Parts: sequence; structure tokens; C-alpha cells
Amino acid sequence: MPLIVISGLPSSGKTTRAKEILNYFNDRFNRERRTNRVHLINDESLGISKDSYQDTRVDEKHSRGAMLSAVERLLSKDDLIIADGMNYIKGFRYQLYCVARAVGTPHCVVYCGVSIDTAREWNTKRGAEGYGSTVFNELVSRFEEPDDRNRWDSPLFTVLSDDTSVSCDAIWDAVIVRLPKPPNQST
Ligand code: ADP
Ligand code: MG
Repeated sequence: MPLIVISGLPSSGKTTRAKEILNYFNDRFNRERRTNRVHLINDESLGISKDSYQDTRVDEKHSRGAMLSAVERLLSKDDLIIADGMNYIKGFRYQLYCVARAVGTPHCVVYCGVSIDTAREWNTKRGAEGYGSTVFNELVSRFEEPDDRNRWDSPLFTVLSDDTSVSCDAIWDAVIVRLPKPPNQST
């Protein structure tokens, strides 16, 4: 089952969008009587606090390592993974892409395309739940925007701040490989 990589600035609505995708896939799997499971992996599920990003790149490396090993452990033919993190370093998105390749399963990137000013505004509104301003600025300055000319960023689905919903139908069509009908069922 596919790996869906979320990417975006801090407080750009990644977890909000990731949960929308999670619900869509759970509902549709149920409706189509498929037994596939969906896993949402993010800092909250990994038990990583926002303070882990305090300033050193060492802590941030730790959170990337936790994300990568969770994806490696959970991604399978039967389970779909939503990797809900900033995933803002292209080398890291490349690593995630390689995990999907190794499992022989499709992958795509969903980019929360929100301006820095909007992300900052949403971050401020979160109060103590949000990132401190120094951390926020540092993460923003290191962000490498997904580019679908790179195979590890393709197919790319961009969701803008005022989009009411994610194009989940299009994501489904792109990543759920339809199994061919068994030959004896054809007329
Ligand atoms: P991230 O996972 O990228 O840090 P969240 O999904 O947790 O971001 O959202 C950060 C904050 O922005 C939350 O307080 C959320 O309610 C708000 N938010 C998310 N998406 C939108 C939106 N489309 N419009 C307005 N506010 C939003
Ligand atoms: Mg989040």
C-alpha cells in the first residue's frame, strides 16, 4: 500500500490535512470492503515534542530518524502510511521515496502550500502549542519546497491555504493500484 508523504512549513496545516486524508482512506477502504489499514505517523504519535526542535540540528535528526524507522517498520503491501511531518529536506524525502521503492509500493507527496506569513499567523494563534519564534524562523529558512521534477517529489499534490479540502479522489487514483481481474473472470 502507498506511502503518502506530507510536507510543509511549521503550522501550515499538515496534521489537519493528514487527518482528512486518513479519514478518506479509512472510509473508502471500508466502503470497498478492503481490509487495508492506514497509519498516521507524526511527532505526536512518535512522542516527539515541539521542544525537540529547540535549536540543534542533532535533535531534529533524531526526529527524522524516528519518522524513517516508523515508516520502514509499518509500510507493507497491506498497510498505507501517511508520513505527517515537515519532511522539508529534499534528501529526507528522497530517503522516504527509497523506502517505498524497496517495498515495491507507490508513493506521493502532499504539499501544504501556505505562505510564510500565513503559517506564522496560524502558529501564533496556537499559543503555547505552537513553535517558538526562533525555532519557527529556523525551520522556515531551511525549508526545501517540493518540486515535482524530482522523482521523489512526484506525483505532487499541492493544497493551498484556502482550499476547502484535499483532492483525495485524485490521490486515490494516483496511488491505489488496481489489481487486474483474474483471467478466468473475463467473458
Ligand atoms: P502543522 O501540522 O503543519 O503544524 P496543524 O494542522 O497542526 O499544522 O495546524 C496549525 C494551526 O493552524 C492549527 O491551530 C489549525 O487549527 C490551524 N489551521 C490549519 N489549517 C487551517 C486552515 N486551512 N485555515 C485556517 N487555520 C488552519
Ligand atoms: Mg503537525
